[in-house]
Amino acid sequence: MKTIIEPFRIKSVEPIKMNSIEERKKILINSHFNLFQVKAQDVIIDLLTDSGTGAMSSKQWAGIMNGDESYAGSDSYLFFKDVVQDIFGFKYILPTHQGRASERILFSNLCKEGDIVPSNTHFDTTRANILFQGAKPIDLIDDEYKDTQSIFPFKGNMSIKKLEDLLKKSDLTKIPLIMITITNNSGGGQPVSMDNIIKVSNVAKKYNIPLYIDACRFAENAYFIKIREKKYKNWSIKKIVRKMFSYADGCTMSAKKDAIVNIGGFLCTNNESVNEKNQNLLILTEGFPTYGGLAGRDLEAIGIGLNEAMDIDYLNYRIKSIEYLGKKLLKNDVPILQPTGGHAIYIDAGLFLSHIPRNQFPGQVLACELYLKGGIRCSEIGSLMFGGIDDNGKEFYANNELVRLAMPRRTYTQSHIDYVIEVVINVYNNRKEIEGLKIAKQSKYLRHFTAKLKKV
Ligand SMILES: *Cc1c(COP(=O)(O)O)cnc(C)c1O
Repeated sequence: MKTIIEPFRIKSVEPIKMNSIEERKKILINSHFNLFQVKAQDVIIDLLTDSGTGAMSSKQWAGIMNGDESYAGSDSYLFFKDVVQDIFGFKYILPTHQGRASERILFSNLCKEGDIVPSNTHFDTTRANILFQGAKPIDLIDDEYKDTQSIFPFKGNMSIKKLEDLLKKSDLTKIPLIMITITNNSGGGQPVSMDNIIKVSNVAKKYNIPLYIDACRFAENAYFIKIREKKYKNWSIKKIVRKMFSYADGCTMSAKKDAIVNIGGFLCTNNESVNEKNQNLLILTEGFPTYGGLAGRDLEAIGIGLNEAMDIDYLNYRIKSIEYLGKKLLKNDVPILQPTGGHAIYIDAGLFLSHIPRNQFPGQVLACELYLKGGIRCSEIGSLMFGGIDDNGKEFYANNELVRLAMPRRTYTQSHIDYVIEVVINVYNNRKEIEGLKIAKQSKYLRHFTAKLKKV
């Protein structure tokens, strides 16, 4: 059959409150054109993030009831640990309350001031946690992959040439680890190929530097390897995942992504002494090593969710529904980042609203317009988020003005997506009337969360 259906039935529903364009106009003004300030109940389709916003399965909810809340050595922990070990193959596994907790613990133990941590592209919490140690995060992507309109199957790949060039000229004692983010979230949810993981691992071994994977979307990445890298066509997702991680010395994970839970994470390594340090810090700031800041029931739900995320019917539905949204937008000339990635559609707002200059935040303008016209909430990934004012008082801007429509897992159906398509096309066809925004008030760090804006 050509039609791909949601491979689940709905057992419990959460009503969406519909509101009118007049109401949303007021809401936008009251929240100063900042969608982080809009109440969730005032949103019709919430595409702000795919992090912790997915729907758990009936098996996961049953797991929640079965959670063992013993302080030490609970059954839920043992179950969680067996599942993580079976999928990823690492020796030591620590639960954490979410991805950034794993990052903070790992970088506290591995990085010192003046160090450098190369990656394909660091996610923003990863970058911030490395900076917090006084170390420097570096992104190494080939230039042709940075163009939103160029089409390559694995635009998340790390540049091997840039990596080797960096290592050749660096003091190697200052490079405590190399990281690969799969899929490359900040780079548009683009996958990394098995071939690239193997090559990065070979370079890492040659220079004797440990390789860690930011594993948040491991299952989505494995799916892309299966369908785009010929050799793995007949491999199961689980076998691909096991091979991917066999090249790494450890990983950080936010279970809010491909473990399909609302909270949780973990930190893995094969290195005994690193694990010992990780464990000591975990006890200090997260909790005892058999629960790590989570309830037993959360560990139970993660263990079940990790396997559900590798189900081929689920992955087919997930990746194909994002591709469906992307194709319909492209057919109507809406400029999006290509090819469509694993968890989101990124609209190129710089191209979409080419009459609005960068200092009037085309990305934020488009995000607000999608909310106004359709009650859709998404996030600006452009100059409001990554731009600012430098030490000399000069404005700087992001590389691209993007708007991300992130898809929560198993949450919306095709008719929700059809609605999103209609709203985006409608806004696109009337784009010439849309006006820019300027900042009325901002904070020095992470200004996009709290900035107040007004119409130019
Ligand atoms: C979400 C995310 C993180 C951080 O995880 P949290 O659970 O939000 O702390 C790290 N890396 C990537 C690639 C992510 O998408």
